[in-house]
Amino acid sequence: MRILLVEDESELARWLTRSLARHGGFVADWADDAELAERRMAVEEFDAIVLDLGLPGMDGHTFLARLRARDDRTPVLVLTARDSLVERIDTLHKGADDFLRKPFIIEELEARLVALVRRSRGRDHPRLSLGDLVLDTAAQRFLAGGQPLALSPREFAVLKVLIQKSGEPVSKQQILDRISPDDREINLEAIEVLVHRLRKKLVNTGACIETLRGMGYCLEPAREV
Ligand code: CA
Repeated sequence: MRILLVEDESELARWLTRSLARHGGFVADWADDAELAERRMAVEEFDAIVLDLGLPGMDGHTFLARLRARDDRTPVLVLTARDSLVERIDTLHKGADDFLRKPFIIEELEARLVALVRRSRGRDHPRLSLGDLVLDTAAQRFLAGGQPLALSPREFAVLKVLIQKSGEPVSKQQILDRISPDDREINLEAIEVLVHRLRKKLVNTGACIETLRGMGYCLEPAREV
């Protein structure tokens, strides 16, 4: 189970990542601010997020609101030092799935995470589609006419960005930022090559990638020939 821990207190974060690993079944990654957490989430899938609300820079509430605004349903457990009922209710409205008040014991955190992930797996996963092209977010693959579309990991990542924004222009730089914030190996020319390859693979899927001069790319329904 992959957990993303968003927490600025390094001592607590280190204890948590160690304890979760030791108790088995968990791999916890740590981001000490919300901006870093967003960059990690753009390139990796997590089963759950453990979120501290009081963070430097972007606070936990904003992180949570932005996560839900982009329709990311990763379960979020909020760690809170404050214990006001009003605040708990407000945070639930903003998209948190559960709470744990600091200080807590590790066994309780684990039990809650296991329950959260179990609940989220039983839920329907969203499917994004255009023409015969479908993104199966649960299986992390594209289907075309019901058959898996053979894509390299980078092709998959580019097409995922485009289908999430389908009908809207996405610049090469935006694609680059989404798919590889830490990857120096890939550049704007590489994005062009990936789009070129994707165009060939999208023939007969009812979807096509248009180039919008000066604006980038846009995934659209293929025009009738
Ligand atoms: Ca904090």
